[in-house]
Amino acid sequence: MKDTFKHKGMRQQLVKTVAEKGITNSDVLKAIGKIPRHLFMDSGFIDHAYVDKAFPIGADQTISQPYTVAFQTELLQIEEGDKILEIGTGSGYQTAVLLELGSKVYSIERQKELFKKTSKFLPKIGYRPKKLVFGDGYKGLPEEAPFDGIIVTAGAPFVPKPLLSQLAIGGRLVIPVGDEVQTMTLFIRKDDKEFEKHEFGEFRFVPLLENKN
Ligand code: SAH
Repeated sequence: MKDTFKHKGMRQQLVKTVAEKGITNSDVLKAIGKIPRHLFMDSGFIDHAYVDKAFPIGADQTISQPYTVAFQTELLQIEEGDKILEIGTGSGYQTAVLLELGSKVYSIERQKELFKKTSKFLPKIGYRPKKLVFGDGYKGLPEEAPFDGIIVTAGAPFVPKPLLSQLAIGGRLVIPVGDEVQTMTLFIRKDDKEFEKHEFGEFRFVPLLENKN
C-alpha cells in the first residue's frame, strides 16, 4: 500500500478542484490533501482516485465524490473532540476525513462485507474510529447518544426520527433527503423540541436501505 509523490501531486490537484467548487474550510481541504484516497479503492483504479467523482467500491456501493464529502463535512462545523455519528461507513473515506478533523467517530454500515473490509483496513493506515457498528443506520446509535454531529452518507427517503432525537442541543444533522435526487439538508437542534432546518443543493447518493433482516 504505497503513497507516492505522484499520488500526492494528484491529491493537491484534487484539493484545488474542490476549493474551486466552493469549499473554503481549510481543515477540510487539508484532510482531502492528506488522505490517500487511492488506498480506499481496489487497486487498478488508482487513476480514478483523484478525479472528483464517486466510484464503485463493490457490493453495489460507492465511495462518495470528494466534493460531496467536503460539502457535508463543512456543514457539520466540527470542533476538536466532537462526537460524530456517521451512517454508511462504506469505504471509510468519509470516516477518515472526520478523524482528520479531530472528532471521535462512530460509524454504522449495514453491508456485512464492506463492514468487515473497512473495519480491517482503517486501522491498517492509522485511522481509529471509536466504534464501527454493523447494523441499521435508521436507528442511529442510542447507547452512545447524544452526538455533536450526525452525517448520513446515503440518500434517505425521509428523515429518521431517532437521528434527530440523538442530537445534542446545538448538534447538527447533515442528511441528503429524497428518492432519485436528494436535497442536502441540515438540521440544527435548538432545544429539546425545536430544530432549525436549512436546505442546500441537489446531490445523488446510493439509497439508505431499510433493514431487510
Ligand atoms: N461514507 C461512504 C459512502 C458509502 S455509500 C464512503 O465515504 O465511502 C453509502 C453507504 O451506506 C453504503 O456503504 C451502504 O451500504 C450504506 N448503507 C445503506 N443503507 C444503510 C443503513 N440503513 N444503515 C447503515 N448503512 C447503510
